[in-house]
Amino acid sequence: MADIDGNMILANALKEQGIEYVFGIVGYPVIEFGMAVQAAGLNYIGMRNEQSACYAAQAIGYLTGKPGVVLVVSGPGLLHVCAGMANAQVNCWPLLVIGGSSSQDQEGIGAFQECNQVELSRPYCKYAARPARPHLIPMHVEKAVRLATYGRPGCAYIDMPGNILAERVPVEIIKPYYQSPPLEKVWPAPSVIETAVQALCNAERPLIIVGKGAAYARAEKEVRQLVNSTNLPFLPTPMGKGVVDDNAPQSVASVRTLALQKADVILLLGARLNWMLHFGRSPRFDPNVKIIPVDICAEELNNSVLNHVSIQADVGPVVDQITKGLQSRKFVLNNNHLWWKTLSQKREINKKTVMQMALDVSVPLNYYAAFHHIQQVLPKDAIIVSEGANTMDIGRSILLNTLPRSRLDAGTFGTMGVGLGFAIASAFYCKQYEPSRKVICVEGDSAFGFSGMELETMFRYKLPVIIIIINNNGIYSGVDDDLFKDLQDSGEDIAKMIAPSLLSTNTHYENMMQLFNKSGYFCKTIPEIQIALKEALKVTDHPTIINVMINPSADRKPQTFSWLTESKL
Ligand code: ADP
Ligand code: MG
Repeated sequence: MADIDGNMILANALKEQGIEYVFGIVGYPVIEFGMAVQAAGLNYIGMRNEQSACYAAQAIGYLTGKPGVVLVVSGPGLLHVCAGMANAQVNCWPLLVIGGSSSQDQEGIGAFQECNQVELSRPYCKYAARPARPHLIPMHVEKAVRLATYGRPGCAYIDMPGNILAERVPVEIIKPYYQSPPLEKVWPAPSVIETAVQALCNAERPLIIVGKGAAYARAEKEVRQLVNSTNLPFLPTPMGKGVVDDNAPQSVASVRTLALQKADVILLLGARLNWMLHFGRSPRFDPNVKIIPVDICAEELNNSVLNHVSIQADVGPVVDQITKGLQSRKFVLNNNHLWWKTLSQKREINKKTVMQMALDVSVPLNYYAAFHHIQQVLPKDAIIVSEGANTMDIGRSILLNTLPRSRLDAGTFGTMGVGLGFAIASAFYCKQYEPSRKVICVEGDSAFGFSGMELETMFRYKLPVIIIIINNNGIYSGVDDDLFKDLQDSGEDIAKMIAPSLLSTNTHYENMMQLFNKSGYFCKTIPEIQIALKEALKVTDHPTIINVMINPSADRKPQTFSWLTESKL
């Protein structure tokens, strides 16, 4: 009688549930499972660090709407992905984590890498379980995939003890398991649409905020239609960028502070009023602002502030209904409306300030100059992955996104180390679905350090990711060569001399490419950057590092509110 082991049952179950990508690192007890994944016809991408593998898996989930899988070994392997699980869960991205674990018959007697993995995962997961027998694996996989994707997306964990993976059972007891179809989009009640439409019509200073929930909802068509037909100003959140083209005249991204502070009615599409949106509170918002959130997750509504009306539904149909309501009232916010005049005026002033800094190309460069000139060469439809402090914040305002889901960054959890994993997933996504698009990974030098060895992964899988390192010799800011050498050679205890934020100066990160017999770019001037980028864009079969030295003390333009200003009232 033919039999089948747990490894193959699990791999087949993933296939049955429509999983396409497994990222991971193999080792005891999942080595055979890694091979089973490929035997089942899935893509297996071996990574160099479990965190990166987990970031890659969740990014593929965000980009495709189908969860990616991350595979890890027992104990430390599982602990290493906890950061990634938390990141996926906090970002509301679908993810399935599969952890090998020690055999059940060794539980409690100190098995190799014995670890209470189901319980450790649970705080970061919507579902965490261990199949009791091999024939139960397909049921748990279906449930994990369903919970990762239904409602508010998130993380699911399946624990696979070595003995269950190795156990062989007769083929005929493994029955095909059903695949839960994607649910119909949740529609809003007509009454809440009516309230929202009325509030927008009566508003003096209306604003739309577009979040990454709108991006995940694939509501770009509806949101663009709303913005185009009403001329309402919109503000994207970092990963909401591109749902509506950043170049659209209705974007008020460059007057974010003013728009948030003065708006009297805000339609909030798939974004939470957390730290990123200053909790929806004064002084960053008008204390009397009427907020109308649209969220798939009921628990999110009326969070932090009381809403004018709460809409628990999918962004797409809600926006469609609101657009129809506004159109039937012939609502358009004219460019000569006082609100638009206020916004446009300030927008011009801000653009000038930024342009002044951008056109100052003296060496060492400032952030604005570097980004402005990178933007000139970047393909409009590039997927931009970004992490760092100033690199990410300033880059966000200058590097534009024209398409939805084309910006991936440190996100709601503010996680550093996501960059190369996100970029690897994006590159696989492009290769499969949109081969003409490029992936650009814009990293601070500190951020790059968290996952730099994934460069080898990119070379192995021939992924043409362009990694631009904005190098300021440190975290937030660094120092120049001479000062750094003085600190190192001062004769004092070196660990007491080198400030916590400093990294080595003028580090030639691009030379990592020599490990693969290629050379990267070390750039100090604008022409060097632009030439490097143009050349890198022609490469189709390996990654490129462009190391951009900037002024180690370069900073942001002065801000009205310091970072993380919250309500003190
Ligand atoms: P941002 O980072 O852009 O501010 P958040 O991650 O804070 O966005 O919020 C995204 C929100 O979108 C979450 O509260 C999530 O529940 C919600 N969401 C996800 N998918 C949908 C959808 N299809 N329709 C409506 N809301 C959604
Ligand atoms: Mg830095």
